[in-house]
Order: sequence, then structure tokens, then C-alpha cells
Amino acid sequence: MKYTNFNILANGIVIGTVLKYDVNLIDDITKTSEEEINKLTKAISLSIEQINEMKKHHNELIEYLDAQILMISDPVFLKKSKELIINENISASKAINKVLNIYIDNLRNSTSLYLQERATDIKDIIIRINSNLNDNMNHLKLNKYILLTDTLYPSLLINNKDNIIGVITRSGGYSSHSAILCRQWDIPYVVSDIELNDNDKIIIDTASNIIITNPTDKEINKYELDIKKKEEYSKLAIEHDDYLFLANVSNNIDLPKVNKYNFDGVGLYRTELIFMNTNRPYSFDEQYKIYKNAVDIIGNKYLCFRTFDIGDDKKLSYVQTYKKGIDNYRNNPELFTTQIRALLKANTNNNLRIMFPMIETKEEFKFLKNWVVKINKENNYNLPKIGMMLETKEALLHIEDFKDVDFISIGTNDLTKELYNINRDNALDNKNVYIHDLLDKLKNVVTFCNKNNISLSVCGELASVSDIALSLYEIGIKNLSVSPSSIQNLNRAYTDYKKK
Ligand code: PEP
Ligand code: MG
Repeated sequence: MKYTNFNILANGIVIGTVLKYDVNLIDDITKTSEEEINKLTKAISLSIEQINEMKKHHNELIEYLDAQILMISDPVFLKKSKELIINENISASKAINKVLNIYIDNLRNSTSLYLQERATDIKDIIIRINSNLNDNMNHLKLNKYILLTDTLYPSLLINNKDNIIGVITRSGGYSSHSAILCRQWDIPYVVSDIELNDNDKIIIDTASNIIITNPTDKEINKYELDIKKKEEYSKLAIEHDDYLFLANVSNNIDLPKVNKYNFDGVGLYRTELIFMNTNRPYSFDEQYKIYKNAVDIIGNKYLCFRTFDIGDDKKLSYVQTYKKGIDNYRNNPELFTTQIRALLKANTNNNLRIMFPMIETKEEFKFLKNWVVKINKENNYNLPKIGMMLETKEALLHIEDFKDVDFISIGTNDLTKELYNINRDNALDNKNVYIHDLLDKLKNVVTFCNKNNISLSVCGELASVSDIALSLYEIGIKNLSVSPSSIQNLNRAYTDYKKK
């Protein structure tokens, strides 16, 4: 049977047998309240110990794991759970489920996609504590399998990384921690409602958008060969003379791949994800630590941080957000100043770049640049290159106004929305409607940048599609920034371009 109805969160081909895991299995046998409270206190300490141990091996997850420790150590959480155990005479498992599920419901009811995904982080805590209260996760340690579960919680994935060769879940988002980790670890991950049983043999092939259940020997042989070929086909960036192969990242977790695949650096670091990962503003020191860590990982390569691009569906719980763009900085000046100060201090290799999103007019750019220059003067750091994203209709129409920017990166995701009213989620499916017109418009930008010696790149999703990347090369855009997992598309586009 062939099945094609699924969403891909991490690409790959895998052949394996299914193991179903129900994370909602909880221990319902209640001993005395005293024993349950004892068990819970021990499970909490053990959970913290385990997370601290994980921190030693997963540098890239430190922020996430610290946040988990904070939540687990919250005295209110323990107090409420104890009260439930005593007052309702229930098991420790049931009590923590009840307490934490209230938080989860609140987050899931939020209109912010980001907050909805944070519910997953709390569920992750429930799973960890539950597994320390019970033994229901032992079978996950057996052999290698394709995991089928409701939602993929990071602890489940991290604890069983060596056994999980593929993942199918009923729900999950592209920017969830688990999806990021699967992409980093090359574990194919799809979201699907496919019905499967334990030990079913299946093939997941995201390149052909297919799940094959009960494959024939012939199919298995073919895929075994494909996997071998794919392994031989290196994920390293090919030679690309004076063109830049850059990566889009939103977290330090993504950075090791930038080096591993031989990218020339980071063309777009979406810093708002850092801001959205907390329920209070990060302090100067906290932000500095994150940016400095990124600088240390990337070394002397290209490193472009975009100032936090909030608004629309990217909301923060601790400040009001406005329409995407400069109003978010004007109305939250502390937040902007702190980020810029931390970025400037982290610029120890003198290769860091600062880029503003959603710029509409030259006055906006000037205003923000002057703000950065002022902070820089007050602190005596090196002034980095300062550029902008070209992703608004207004800026595209008046591109001649932007002679003073150090560099421009074209954000096709927002630009196609502004120009053609095509939502970013449908931009690829509908590319034939607008791509010729868009490329025509971008030719003007190339001419303008060449004339004024402004370096130009594209960092929107369109750059990750190899035939569009080829067209971008053909109109004279040399620098493309794509998600690390799209390196092969970039290689293909570049090879085709050079062949012509
Ligand atoms: C874009 O708009 O193309 C872009 C890269 O920015 P984001 O997707 O973060 O809005
Ligand atoms: Mg954008």
C-alpha cells in the first residue's frame, strides 16, 4: 500500500519496523499519599539529574534544558501536585498530569502558533517525570524502529536517539524542538494519520512523498540501493568560487550543521525565536551568552543576525507586539537596545552583521542604523556591517533610496505576500503564478546593488528550490541563504548554472 497524505518535518528515506508508543500511559495504582509524595519527590530529583546529564552532551540544547529544569523545580508545581495527591487520593502520575495539563490547555488555546508549540515542552516534562515514576518506557530501548506516536516530545527523542530511525506523529510543527533535532540528526520525520501496527514493515521516502506499507522484496531492494546512493552523495557544499552558500538558522542548535556541510556562514539568523522561547525578556548577559556562543561556533565565517522580527503570528508573551516592522522597536526600545548591545559585544571576530527586517523607507533604515551607531559609540565596540531585508513592496518600489545600506537580503516569503497576496505557506505551490514577474522585478535590484557596490543575497524559501535558485543565479544573484538541509538543492542549482 502506498500512502501520500502527510507533512514532512524532516527529510530522508528509511526502511524499518514500526513501534507504537502511547505517551499518555500513566501509573494509576495509588499507594498511600505519603508513598506517592515520596515517589514524586524522588522522580523530580531524578529528572533534574538526567537533564543536567543531558546538558553535558547536548551543548546545543542548553537553553531548552535550562528552561525544563526551571519548570520542574517550580515549587508551585510540587505544592499543587502534593495537594492533589492528598486531597483527591490519586497517584503521583495522575497528579502531575492534572497540574501540568492545565498549563498545556492554556498554551494550546493561545492564538500564537509558537505558544501552542510550547505546550509540547511541558508535555515533555510530564513524560520525563512519568517515566521516572513508572517503567513504561523500557521497551523503547529495543533495537531500531520507526516511532509512531501522537506527538514527538524532545525527551522521548533524545533518550532514544540511537534506536529511533524515523518518526511518524499525529501532530507536530516544523519549528518544534523535536523537528529541529530530527533535521539536525537526519531522522526522517512526518506527520500523518496513517494507521499502522507494531512491527509493521514500512518505507518512508520524503523525496518521493510516499510511505509504503508492507513493501515487496523488490521495493525493499530498490530502497536499500537508494539509501546507499544517498549516503555516497555527500552533503557537503560543492566548490563554488566567489559565490556564497549561506544558511538560515533560528537557534544555536542549527549551527553545527552550518560547519558540517561547509556553508560559508549564516545568511539569516532569525533571533526572534530566542525571544519567543522565554516568558520574560532575556537579560543583556543571557543574550550576550547566546550570541557569543554562535560567534564561537561560526568562527570567522559570515554571520548575519536579524534583529528580532516580531508581530503577526510571532508574538511575545511579555510585551505588546505591533505589525511586523519598526514599530516593534520604537515601542519596545529597551528590548531593541539590549539586543543590539549584546550583539555588538559578541562581535569579537569582527565578522558579525546586523540586519533589520521589514524595512519600508530609507528613513526607517537610517533611524535604526543611527540607533545602533549611538549604542556602539557609548560602548566603544567595533561597528559591524549594517544591512536590511528587502521584503516589503514599498522598499522594492523605492530601491534607489537605499544607497547607504551595507548589504541587502531579499526575503521572498514576505515579499510574495506583499506583491501577490500569496501566503507564505502556499508560496511554493503557486510559484508559477508570479515567479517570472518577481524575477523581473529583482533584476532591478541586482542592477542597483551592482552599481552601488552593495552585496546582495536571497534568504527567503524560494532560494531553497533548485530550479528557482538556478534562476536567481541567472539574473545575477550570487549569494543564497537556505535551510542547512537544503544544501543538496543549492549544489544542484550551482552545478546546473555552471554547466550552462
Ligand atoms: C522572508 O520573509 O522571506 C524571510 C526570510 O523572513 P521570515 O520568513 O522570517 O519572515
Ligand atoms: Mg520576512
